[in-house]
Amino acid sequence: MPYKHILVAVDLTEECDPVIKRAQESALANGAILSLVHIVEPMAMAFGGDVPMDLSQLQQQQFDQAKERLDRLILKYPHLKKEDCHLTYGQPRQEIHHLAKEKACDLIVVGSHGRHGLALLLGSTANDVLHGAPCDVLAVKLVKAS
Ligand code: AMP
Repeated sequence: MPYKHILVAVDLTEECDPVIKRAQESALANGAILSLVHIVEPMAMAFGGDVPMDLSQLQQQQFDQAKERLDRLILKYPHLKKEDCHLTYGQPRQEIHHLAKEKACDLIVVGSHGRHGLALLLGSTANDVLHGAPCDVLAVKLVKAS
């Protein structure tokens, strides 16, 4: 059964290129729609939720910067349609699962650093997304540039 709707999750770093390329190839091979999502994590979350200062301006800057990067990606990858690219606030795993369900996606594509040992304990978004995913998940192995 070919995939019908592929959701690629990107962190908007230079590492997202191989992830988008793989998702785009899969979308073309399957004749599938390609959607993209980036999640801006609330700063308060990074500080453990209890921050005695107003982070709203910094948060807005972070969101605007993400939007600029996303717009550049849309220009770079013509297969990505603006209306299928999403920028949301929240926790990556939760938002990726939510969007995949809402859009009835049948494949989620993420990058994976193949962490092990202590690094794995510190967390990997790919692992996180895999747990409880509403559909198949493809983890694209990312190789560190040396
Ligand atoms: P990480 O484990 O955080 O290094 O990220 C691995 C992969 O998870 C990335 O290549 C993306 O596919 C995905 N990812 C990480 N952070 C985000 C984010 N904020 N929004 C969407 N996807 C993300």
